[in-house]
Amino acid sequence: MGQVVMDRGAGGNAGGGTSANGHGATRIKSYAPATGELIGEAPNMSAEDVRRAMERARRAQEAWGALPVEERCERVLRFRDAFVERADELIDLLVRECGKPRHEALLHEVLVAADLATFFAKAAPRVLAPHELKLHLLKHRRSFIHYKPRGVVAVISPWNYPFQLPMRDAISALIAGNAVIIKPSEVTPLIALKAKEIWDGAGLPEDLLQICTGFGPTGAALIDAHPDFVVFTGGTATGRRVAAACGERLIPCVMELGGKAPLIACADADVERTARAVVFGGFSNAGQVCISVERVYAHREVHDKLLERVVELTRELRQGDPSKEFVDVGAIIFPQQIDIAEKHIADAVGKGAELRTGGKRKEGAGQFFEPTVLAGCNHQMTVMTDEIFGPIVPFMRVSTEEEAVRLANDSQLGLNAYVFSADRDHARRLAERVEAGSVLVNDVLSNGGTPDAPFGGIKLSGFGRAMGEEGLRDMCNVKHISVDRIASQKDPLWYPYTEGSYTWFRRGLRALFSGGGIVQRISEML
Ligand code: NDP
Repeated sequence: MGQVVMDRGAGGNAGGGTSANGHGATRIKSYAPATGELIGEAPNMSAEDVRRAMERARRAQEAWGALPVEERCERVLRFRDAFVERADELIDLLVRECGKPRHEALLHEVLVAADLATFFAKAAPRVLAPHELKLHLLKHRRSFIHYKPRGVVAVISPWNYPFQLPMRDAISALIAGNAVIIKPSEVTPLIALKAKEIWDGAGLPEDLLQICTGFGPTGAALIDAHPDFVVFTGGTATGRRVAAACGERLIPCVMELGGKAPLIACADADVERTARAVVFGGFSNAGQVCISVERVYAHREVHDKLLERVVELTRELRQGDPSKEFVDVGAIIFPQQIDIAEKHIADAVGKGAELRTGGKRKEGAGQFFEPTVLAGCNHQMTVMTDEIFGPIVPFMRVSTEEEAVRLANDSQLGLNAYVFSADRDHARRLAERVEAGSVLVNDVLSNGGTPDAPFGGIKLSGFGRAMGEEGLRDMCNVKHISVDRIASQKDPLWYPYTEGSYTWFRRGLRALFSGGGIVQRISEML
């Protein structure tokens, strides 16, 4: 039987990664972006495959969800131990399938996922414990809040952090008592399959964590199979389609979408630290980070020194095949990003920006784009308004912090933002005014690996939160149980409705809620 194989292609990227291209293919080929070499294949799963996976996941979840949370944590830690033990296999594959530097595969993928599992295993027994809610009015009843697993959680994830991102959501969903089906990006299917191999190897329930590899239609089929919760991480355009599909089926979802993180360098910013932060925040993972530094607003008092130092540091970066040597900047995982980077640069330079360094794709094998710094940018240029998702840092000079905040907020996206200043209190006040899900002062990117804190966006960067107590509880249905305190056969709030009881309640309304009412007095006393 002749097999159809979809070829996303090295450099040429024949598959293109769009959903339509997935039709009819039975396999996906995965290429190393740094070399162009074919490294493996994965099945392109059909809607029927996905439906069967969902049935198996539902059965597996019943027993898992009934376990005490402590026991689930203990088993998830077994998975953590297994992937820490096999970290070299994961790192080697991440380096090959994503072309990312070994440090980034170790620190930003494996270590972050291990820390996240540890944090959630520690926090979950407290965060998910049932607790009593003190009612402010209905004192004759007691209320209890319980966190129940939702059921099956679908995790749809992108190609830029193909281990850390799906593991982040899978681990918190599992600890909360759910089964998980991951749909990894067609661009990086092998790393998710490796995670599954490690899960199975650790003796954990096979159907509890499943991977449905495929193209866009496999993701669409996953939503059509009616999971109980969807965590989608990806671009805003796909996010709209996925949110619409969830909306039609009334499936609750979290949308972790694109970013356009501004970095505000105040007049008193430490130039050396800020410059190093811009370079790391702009070029880590070759700029393919949803919280990358995507635009710099530098106060005129530091602008020139900061720009010069950023250009110097950028020129020192070593770029190349990370499987052969220690490099700072690796390859571009998804080849279309190179075309996007070129369009941004042409648009900016055409409108008067100055190309200070970089700006070109590298000739030869592999998909590389030079780390690029643009100066003299403004909001007429796409590089300042649209997500880049590549190694470009555009600079804009501002005269005041007010101007910087206004420009930072002049965006449809609001995931991360950065403020650099020697005065931390002042920077924090400025941070409160920047429209973003998270703002870091004198730092970049680190909240992507801070499991204690909620992570997510506002505006077109999405809604809902991954990580933090909020993210963990979001993996659950919140259940309210209300219990009577005093046995009674009649309840004054029930039938019959009489004139007498109406008059009594009417008086009660004033007594309870008017200016000096009982409720107000009690709440003032407390
Ligand atoms: P995409 O939106 O293209 O894809 C994300 C996932 O959705 C992939 O697995 C994709 O499959 C799948 N998909 C495509 N079509 C459908 C559909 N109709 N129904 C269900 N699933 C579908 O994102 P990219 O992979 O290109 O990732 C880059 C984007 O991700 C950037 O915008 C970046 O900012 C964002 N991102 C956001 C993060 C956050 O936490 N906020 C973190 C990291 C990235 P396939 O690949 O097979 O097409």
